Amino acid sequence: MPVAPSLSRPRTWQLWRNPARFLALVLGVDLVTLVWVADEITRPAGDRRDWLVALLLLAVAVVFEEGATHVARLKWRLSSQLKRDMTSVWSVAAAVALPPVPGVTLVVIIYVHLWWRQQRPGGQPAHRAVYVGATVVLACLTAGYAVRAVDGAWTGLPWALASSIAVLIAIVIGTTLNRALVTAALMSLGNHGRSLLGTLDDNLTELSTLCLGGLVAIAAIHEPWLCALAVLPMAMLQRGSFVRELETAAVTDPKTGLINAVGWEHIAQRELGRARRENYGLSVLIADIDHFKLVNDRHGHLVGDQVLRGLARALGGALREYDSVGRFGGEEFVAVLPETDVPAAIEIAERIRARVNTLSVGSVSSVADERLLSVSIGVATVSAGDLADTELTAMLISADRALYRAKEAGRNRVCLADPDAPAPVVPA
Ligand code: GH3
Ligand code: MG
Ligand code: MG
Repeated sequence: MPVAPSLSRPRTWQLWRNPARFLALVLGVDLVTLVWVADEITRPAGDRRDWLVALLLLAVAVVFEEGATHVARLKWRLSSQLKRDMTSVWSVAAAVALPPVPGVTLVVIIYVHLWWRQQRPGGQPAHRAVYVGATVVLACLTAGYAVRAVDGAWTGLPWALASSIAVLIAIVIGTTLNRALVTAALMSLGNHGRSLLGTLDDNLTELSTLCLGGLVAIAAIHEPWLCALAVLPMAMLQRGSFVRELETAAVTDPKTGLINAVGWEHIAQRELGRARRENYGLSVLIADIDHFKLVNDRHGHLVGDQVLRGLARALGGALREYDSVGRFGGEEFVAVLPETDVPAAIEIAERIRARVNTLSVGSVSSVADERLLSVSIGVATVSAGDLADTELTAMLISADRALYRAKEAGRNRVCLADPDAPAPVVPA
């Protein structure tokens, strides 16, 4: 039986289960940070004012983080791999306005508090929190040194301009280093692609946080009490970005990353409206994995989930850019195909069917007994002339009937809705 991880038994730590490249990076960065901080502690540690400013910033940060704990915990559970928090407000301020020792002390205490109150209950393993904390401390120290190295160059400039230049230097250097180290760790865990860059919204929120950090830094240098004014804008910024994440989550299927049934129906209704206005035909297809219960029974539910993700990718690859596919529920997927008549819809459905036959997910390339992974597909098409009298629900019922016939006829095939069948009765 696996032993539960415990702080006092290093052998049980989750850390060791990671790839060697990740371990080398994490331990290397943690060690460099530790050595640098130890070296800083041997130097003069700032004057009384610096420590008072650090204490004030700490009090404001704790008030903010305590007030934001509920939203932050939810956000933590919901977010994708790039988990953003608002600590950059304090690390920018620490880099610009404080010497290394009070600055690092401030950042470390804020980070430990954040981990204890928000990330640990959200399931963040300690080694990841230590690594992210180390990248923040390294970024803060490096940015602080860069700011102080060029400090003398601005002596003749008005204070507002000199402070703004210092803030800009700290933001560019600190953010670049921090992002590079976090991205390197994610890549060493096998994450690639656009998701590493974050969404436009993620990046705008991060930029807004950094700007607030700049304002807090300038206040900390010239009028420290003004730092308290940052709490409300920070809370609103955090809530605003959380609402956007909730909106996305509400229409996303977490297992496959496709849109869910609610999101798909919204898009399909919009496509139907556009087809009516612009007078072109449109098709809908429903694909259902054949004998999926057998996949689960033979290979387990987790592998079944991998097959669902593989199918989602295959569907995305087989459809055109302007088609929209969603997970309808269970092992059923649905797609709307604008400007698609019967021959084009059959061609697309056949392409999907053939791709699924060549699909292999991990060790699974067949359901059982050499039976390939396969889907049955029902297709319903409405020509431009009939669109005025056709509802989406009626198209889905027709496609579902066609799917049923495909199953009856032996599975692994595409069936078209019967044009001579009586119009489906749409439930009220
Ligand atoms: P057929 O469609 O060919 O008639 O057979 P089937 O075995 O695919 O039929 P059925 O629709 O009865 O079974 C669907 C199965 O899909 C049952 C359920 O356990 C499984 N399933 C539904 N959702 C999920 C899921 O999210 N993950 C996994 N692994 N299995 C799921
Ligand atoms: Mg099925
Ligand atoms: Mg089914």
